[in-house]
Amino acid sequence: MTAVKTRVAPSPTGDPHVGTAYVALVNLCLAKKSGGSFVLRIEDTDRVRSTIESERAILKSLQWLGLQWDGDPFRQSERTHIYETHVDQLLKSGGAFRCFCSAERLEEMRVAQRAAKMPPRYDGLCLSLTEDEIRHRMDAGVAHVVRLRVPSEGSCVFDDVLRGRIEFEWKTVDMQVLMKSDGFPTYHLANVVDDHAMGITHVVRGEEWISSAPKHLLLYQYFGWDAPQLCHLPLLRNPDKSKLSKRKNPTSILYYREQGYLAEALLHFLGMLIDTRNDDTLVEKARGTDALIEAMTARFALEHISLGGPVFDLAKLNWLNGQHIRAKSVDEFLHVLHDFGYRWPESVPQSRREHIARVAQPRIEKLTDFAPLVAFFDEMPDLSKSDFDLPKISPPEVRDALQAAEETLVPTDGTWDAAFVGERLKAAATQTGKKFKDVARVYYLAITGSPASVPLFDAIEILGKTETLRRLRLALEILQ
Ligand code: GLU
Repeated sequence: MTAVKTRVAPSPTGDPHVGTAYVALVNLCLAKKSGGSFVLRIEDTDRVRSTIESERAILKSLQWLGLQWDGDPFRQSERTHIYETHVDQLLKSGGAFRCFCSAERLEEMRVAQRAAKMPPRYDGLCLSLTEDEIRHRMDAGVAHVVRLRVPSEGSCVFDDVLRGRIEFEWKTVDMQVLMKSDGFPTYHLANVVDDHAMGITHVVRGEEWISSAPKHLLLYQYFGWDAPQLCHLPLLRNPDKSKLSKRKNPTSILYYREQGYLAEALLHFLGMLIDTRNDDTLVEKARGTDALIEAMTARFALEHISLGGPVFDLAKLNWLNGQHIRAKSVDEFLHVLHDFGYRWPESVPQSRREHIARVAQPRIEKLTDFAPLVAFFDEMPDLSKSDFDLPKISPPEVRDALQAAEETLVPTDGTWDAAFVGERLKAAATQTGKKFKDVARVYYLAITGSPASVPLFDAIEILGKTETLRRLRLALEILQ
């Protein structure tokens, strides 16, 4: 039995897409599970749209997610001589033909086909050119492409690992351009030539390529090669079930990284979309991307992939990211924040940073939530009178509550911690005759500048007595 070999083959024509990571994860798990290998191939045959920045970003993003490929990545633009040889072979065997049709003629043909409600397909005009006519045009330097010869009758039948038997009538399959007039191959030719050359045993890719499969299978047949197993994964969806799109959901891996998603959280989330068995118990069981990939590989099977469009639900990803943040020790969390680029304001002493991190850690979903959440430790946000218009507590009661807090916190026996502060403030609330829940909003606002933040008593402990009393007085002044 030949060893399993899989690949991911992104085109570097834009930001690295979460769909690429999803496909890469399936391919990596499949290869690992069977002791095989997984390669990365950059499909940069589109000279206009491919960029080196995009290629770099794809490599970096996959590595960030722990989706490591074996060996060096392949780059198709460095392999054009291989494709040329193969096109020549097809031209000789009759599997392909030169087409000299002008863009205008092709456009007229398409318009006529549309009007006749026929599927768009090259009409085969150049198939009838004689050797002489072809040579004549070539000598005259007429621009041309090379097209795949497609049967006009019968159908192409193949088995998809996930979808079973699939059939396409040949008359609906276009005579695909294999080599463009600039001498560069199209995706179809380069893809098949490379999958064969690289010994790929399983082509696992997005559903959008199903209709290309007949063209690819025809190429395998013309070359006399065994075709790999084909497996078309369901497309990622927006929550409204439409195809995942930038407009409704960010699709760039860079975006998630910049927004403070952890690599393991995004990876885990993609794993959940592949197989629901990759549930949240993995948060504790598999720490870090390597351990996660190992755990997901252990339970991986292509048959587990459900065909119902996996929904890229941001709310769920946010929740999962929060879970992964909480699974870290405070030390790890501090490191993660630092690596993410968070820098503590000078005014926050070293001795308080760990405590602040510890109380903020359970309250954030993304690393970007951290800075705004804890900014009040450094600087009290500006408040105005109207900020203190709170439910269930009237303006005079607000003032009473603040005064009571001030009075009860002034005399201390030297202790100043969350427990002590909590007791005192609860007593102060009782004095005002209000429920603590309602009074707490006032204190939150006066101390943190926001009606909800990190736990109040911890915040007060961290701020210290002087600063806390200063903020209470400030609030009273605002209310004058
Ligand atoms: N270059 C194609 C893409 O960007 C690869 C499709 C395939 O895996 O065959 O998705």
